[in-house]
Amino acid sequence: MSQNSNSGPSPVYEDYTRCIHCGLCLNACPTYRLWNLEADSPRGRIQQMFRVFQSEASDLAQPEGRISEGFVDHIDKCLDCRACETACPSGVAYGRLVEHARAHIERTYERSWIAHVARNFFFRDFLSASHFIEDAARVFRLYQRSGMQAVARGIGVLKLFGLAERDRLLPQIDSEFFFNRFGSTFPPVGPRRARVAFFAGCIANVTFSGLNEATIRVLTANGCEVLVPKEQSCCGALSAHAGFRDAARDFARKNLEAFRLDDVDAIVTNAAGCGSTMKEYDHLFSEHEPEHAQARAFAAKTRDVTEFLEDLGLTAKLNRLRHRVTYQDSCHLLHGQKIREAPRKLLRAIPDLDFVELPYSEICCGSAGTYNVTQTETSLQLLVEKMRHAQSTAAQTIVTANPGCILQLQAGVALHHTNQNVLHVVELLDRAISGT
Ligand code: SF4
Ligand code: SF4
Repeated sequence: MSQNSNSGPSPVYEDYTRCIHCGLCLNACPTYRLWNLEADSPRGRIQQMFRVFQSEASDLAQPEGRISEGFVDHIDKCLDCRACETACPSGVAYGRLVEHARAHIERTYERSWIAHVARNFFFRDFLSASHFIEDAARVFRLYQRSGMQAVARGIGVLKLFGLAERDRLLPQIDSEFFFNRFGSTFPPVGPRRARVAFFAGCIANVTFSGLNEATIRVLTANGCEVLVPKEQSCCGALSAHAGFRDAARDFARKNLEAFRLDDVDAIVTNAAGCGSTMKEYDHLFSEHEPEHAQARAFAAKTRDVTEFLEDLGLTAKLNRLRHRVTYQDSCHLLHGQKIREAPRKLLRAIPDLDFVELPYSEICCGSAGTYNVTQTETSLQLLVEKMRHAQSTAAQTIVTANPGCILQLQAGVALHHTNQNVLHVVELLDRAISGT
């Protein structure tokens, strides 16, 4: 990896040439499966990124000739789901390549003025300040609860402006925000078996407070003391995936300060997308930077909540749940963190739960961070297939392990009228523990 002070280590020649063009990743790639186009396959994208890398490295290259609109389009359409990494026999670190390609695009390609301003505000300022997130949440909550949303849907104004689908993707804003829990400590039920720091996310604090509360209940019921560090910040995943690596590095620095590693056995998250980035915090810093060693230690302590609970072993009594469920793998849990069995084992531990595998559960649902907002049409195309498979299982509930996937699947249930519930694994465990 070469060095870049703004974005950390960048890929080198060998990182691209590790691809031997075998094509084993093609069928795993959601966009290739949709369009059958080499340019929208992992192999095709690696080739394009390699050409840009070579052009960059060449003294003869003209700056204006480096990035074409076509290149930006093919890279924008990638979900960064990393299914190609799981399929690749040659060990291509595709996620790193595409994130650096996006950082390069961000530095050298001129998007429209409005896109430039909006992206900069969202990926740098909005995610970094809880007051922006809370203010926006209050506005959306007013829209949802004052009847404005129902009226807008009823009179068809959203359809008129092409916003009907995006409106379906809008999360339900919580009555009470989880930000209020920052700085709290929750005692274990019974003897303490572990002490953990809970990473609460960013937007999840106004849209998934219930999930965060359920996660804490499940952890404490299983003997964990849970701290919620006050100064924690967004993990930086959305910014890193969009090419704002300097912003992602700032988020990482804040979390390196906020979490006192000596004080806890693990840093636990219920968001697979966040966990995946936090487990790779050291990739954001070069070895000579002072943060690198600290980032490695932070990454080594980070655990997805399903991974952590499965390792710890459940001690809380689980009541019977006579219910049929299926499980959608979250890409950043399965492909980013290589965790497949932990959530399934936890589900199978619930007495009477009828667990049935979801066909093609390893293929992305189309959520992919902000993909369902920036590439709504493609995201909804992927969702059609996902809901067809979910219906084929006859499951009453679709379970998954990432808030973004929950939102996407909830939108799928509403748009395709499948009448299913969508829950996180820990929410189902919470119900089994409480017996409700
Ligand atoms: S990250 Fe996902 S969408 Fe992108 S090339 Fe790989 S498999 Fe395809
Ligand atoms: S599977 Fe790996 S080596 Fe083969 S084409 Fe895909 S990225 Fe290249």
